[in-house]
Amino acid sequence: MKRITIAIDGYSSCGKSTLAKQLAKELGYTYIDSGAMYRAATLYMLENDISPENIPAVVDALRHIKIEFRINPVNGQQETYLNEGNVEREIRSMQISNLVSPMSAIAEVRAAMVAQQQELGKAKGVVMDGRDIGTVVFPDAELKLFMTAKPRIRAQRRFEELMAKGDGSSFEEVYQNVLSRDLIDTTRKVGPLVKATNAIEIDNSHITREEQYNLALNYALQTIHQLSAKAD
Ligand code: C5P
Repeated sequence: MKRITIAIDGYSSCGKSTLAKQLAKELGYTYIDSGAMYRAATLYMLENDISPENIPAVVDALRHIKIEFRINPVNGQQETYLNEGNVEREIRSMQISNLVSPMSAIAEVRAAMVAQQQELGKAKGVVMDGRDIGTVVFPDAELKLFMTAKPRIRAQRRFEELMAKGDGSSFEEVYQNVLSRDLIDTTRKVGPLVKATNAIEIDNSHITREEQYNLALNYALQTIHQLSAKAD
């Protein structure tokens, strides 16, 4: 069977990473969370007191950032490492969520992350989720999905996730963060969040995770079978 690249883009808290992980597991593909890379870079800037307004300092800092994904042998989950330290938990905090979009709007930050993502995705058999995967990182991806859901529904899901982790953020804070990230992500000059012309849109406001997974898996299998048949 032909191995393909699957690009999953969409708005914040749309369940992209859950879907991407499920697909990668089922297909035996590598999963790459591009948002985690922007979050890890943002954590580095925060720890080193570098604000997104200080572009020369941001550019200089990029040289000192090494981001990797490693599998936790205990639970089998993929975790994000920044300069050899496990930052999986820290990068999901509201503090990082509030800073990540301004940081990700910087052209030099995007160039550095996109180059690493393209390198990581060189070998086919990859599911990558983000905002610009189908448009900038892998414009030739064989399957592109674009996920949407109503902002309040996304905020409610994120709020529940954060509550389960013991984060004390209020629903209103989470909702405002979702709205603000949507705005920054869709209006930035470089690599804005936009549906690729050949992406399939999935609005998951009113479908279950399982329905969404079955839908996406069907698209993936159809694409793989079609391309494998062509190659024969
Ligand atoms: O996917 P996640 O919500 O973790 O991404 C966090 C932030 O990183 C997004 O709101 C966006 O600002 C940025 N991002 C991006 N391009 C990507 C992935 C994430 O700009 N490919």
